[in-house]
Amino acid sequence: HVRTRIAPSPTGFLHLGTARTALYSWAYAKHHGGQFVLRIEDTDVARSTQDAVDQILASMKWLGLDYDEGPIYQMQRLDRYKAVVAQMLEAGTAYHCYCTPEELEATREAQRARGEKTLYDRRWRPEPGKVLPPVPEGVPPVVRFCNPVDGDVTWNDLVKGEITINNREIDDLIIVRPDGVPTYNFAVVVDDWDMAITHVFRGDEHINNTPWQINIFRALGAPLPAFGHLPVILGDDGQKLSKRRGAVSVTAYEENGYLPEAMLNYLARLGWSHGDDELFTREQMVGWFDGSHLSKSPAQWDAAKLAWVNGQYIKAKADDELAPLVAAQLQKRGIVADARLTAICALFKDRCETTVALADWAAAFYADVTPSDADRAQHVTDAVRPALATLADKLATVAAWDKPSIAAAIKEVLAAHAMKMPALAMPVRVLVMGTPQTPSLDAVLTIFSKEKVIERLKG
Ligand code: GLU
Repeated sequence: HVRTRIAPSPTGFLHLGTARTALYSWAYAKHHGGQFVLRIEDTDVARSTQDAVDQILASMKWLGLDYDEGPIYQMQRLDRYKAVVAQMLEAGTAYHCYCTPEELEATREAQRARGEKTLYDRRWRPEPGKVLPPVPEGVPPVVRFCNPVDGDVTWNDLVKGEITINNREIDDLIIVRPDGVPTYNFAVVVDDWDMAITHVFRGDEHINNTPWQINIFRALGAPLPAFGHLPVILGDDGQKLSKRRGAVSVTAYEENGYLPEAMLNYLARLGWSHGDDELFTREQMVGWFDGSHLSKSPAQWDAAKLAWVNGQYIKAKADDELAPLVAAQLQKRGIVADARLTAICALFKDRCETTVALADWAAAFYADVTPSDADRAQHVTDAVRPALATLADKLATVAAWDKPSIAAAIKEVLAAHAMKMPALAMPVRVLVMGTPQTPSLDAVLTIFSKEKVIERLKG
């Protein structure tokens, strides 16, 4: 029975990489009719915040990655970790270590001097026939895991294939800090065990942690989950995607006018493929996502590609579903939209890749426009002023403010001034919309009130 999880640390927003891992974990569980669990790994008390928890939950919700269980908070499970530690101390798979930071540093220094890897020297590890140092006073102990001293740890990674690490490469991990709070590598194992997680997807920065975790699973007699370590996402400069190189939080994309369904589609393709399919629904992805075709090499974030995908989803979305999203963008600019917004979305969505771009167009209908000097100089010339005045007068007299009447009025003005359509349409666009590139003029003008059009023609 497949059970997956996402386990973010609430030290900041939901990162795009974590969102992708969440998507894969979610889709894998759904594909197999299993469950997906959300766990908040908040044992780093100094860096965890409620604000980050709220942001992570909001982003999961926005993306539509619904979880069957959770959120489960590690800090609410401290008693459980304590109980497991007590069992391990009892069974001899863990022990107290009273080394001071100075002693540990001295050991490491000596190892470095000998050109050796810096590993804990197992000073406090109980061994047959070994006399442990006297317990010092006033040193709060840590608890360490008795890692096997030799042999290999091997697992068949769902993404990377077989990985083997020799136990000589790793030391006796601290599983409980002096303040009694468990460390990540220990809590994660107790949790994955208790929550019956069968498949762990996570970033490949955790590959080095996995041998410890596997050894702890074994020491606990717990069944091992399968592991899949996903390669990092690189920015377009080939460096790891990071805040300094642009937006990396899910929230930022929500704010910048991206649709959750487009984000999911794009994230899905970033490290996984299904033939040449670029655009697909969540349901299709769930149908296809069986853990195969996961890429071993880093994916490259492509902002232009994401914008294209988003544009495809904007185009396909119903106008009355787009309108509230655009209204929310307008509201941030202090603009209160009205029922016309649906028609505006219909008219402009083909030329927009985000709801922010749609809001840019829509703003012309609700707030003043300021055409550029260049556009004015090129299109609103003295020669065309008389025709614009005639148009304003004609429009004032049309009975019904609709496309045919507006088109007829324009036609009359063209005839009266012996002009061609573009010579009149361009200045009208510049004055009314603030730019010469707009959809067809009669369609645009009907969305305005007659008074507003006349007012702007005189501007
Ligand atoms: N809290 C860890 C992280 O955010 C979770 C890693 C894991 O999935 O085991 O990286």
